[in-house]
Amino acid sequence: MRPVLDVRDLTKVYGDGDTEVRALDGVTLQVEKGEYVAVMGPSGSGKSTLMNILGCLDVPTTGRYLLDGVDVGGLSDEQLALARNRLIGFVFQSFNLIPRTSAVANVELPLAYSGMKAAERRRRALFSLDLVGLADRADHEPNQLSGGQQQRVAVARALVTEPALLLADEPTGNLDSHATEDMLAVLEELNAAGRTIVIITHEDEVGARADRLIRLLDGRITADSKPEPAGRHAVGAHR
Ligand code: ADP
Ligand code: MG
Repeated sequence: MRPVLDVRDLTKVYGDGDTEVRALDGVTLQVEKGEYVAVMGPSGSGKSTLMNILGCLDVPTTGRYLLDGVDVGGLSDEQLALARNRLIGFVFQSFNLIPRTSAVANVELPLAYSGMKAAERRRRALFSLDLVGLADRADHEPNQLSGGQQQRVAVARALVTEPALLLADEPTGNLDSHATEDMLAVLEELNAAGRTIVIITHEDEVGARADRLIRLLDGRITADSKPEPAGRHAVGAHR
């Protein structure tokens, strides 16, 4: 079976000459379907650069990236945007929901240009909201939902296109410990149902809940292993 992500010797260099910054310096990484991977590293270690490349928001300077078997390096900007929309569901630290718009309408948005009939879009959005435990909040607008619920709506929106990969950049960064725990439970459930998840986080407790923890330092992978099992219930313990 081909990996969802197949990254070979990626480099990303910003600027040149005296101002040159090697943000990624030979990153090689495969992620198989159904894996739950956390990426951790100090500020400036290259996490966002890696996420932007994995998410087809940016391209590497050198190296090869196959996303679900597609060689991203050979794609035009337009093809890259299509691959991104079809294959990746994004979740960001700030929930990025449209205000004064119901949860279900927010979740439907990625299907807007799919040519799908309105009733089918609605059906899929409700199914997706149900996956994150918010079917009963479909008509609520973002300001009528807690931060944790808003982030779960964002996860439902990321999933509605049935992407090959759920890519989350600090998804619990704006959540309190209770909402963080809810989010981690949702991610675990989704992963148990077979979804492939890559999450960037600063929080040890969050990273420890993934099945695989990758550490970045100065643009290189310095560790790639199972997290310490002690972390499994650590978030709840902080409540
Ligand atoms: P992290 O997300 O881990 O904090 P980044 O990927 O944002 O790290 O940054 C890695 C390195 O690349 C840093 O030294 C940062 O200053 C540099 N960098 C990131 N983006 C740019 C850019 N657009 N132009 C120049 N340097 C950049
Ligand atoms: Mg960053």
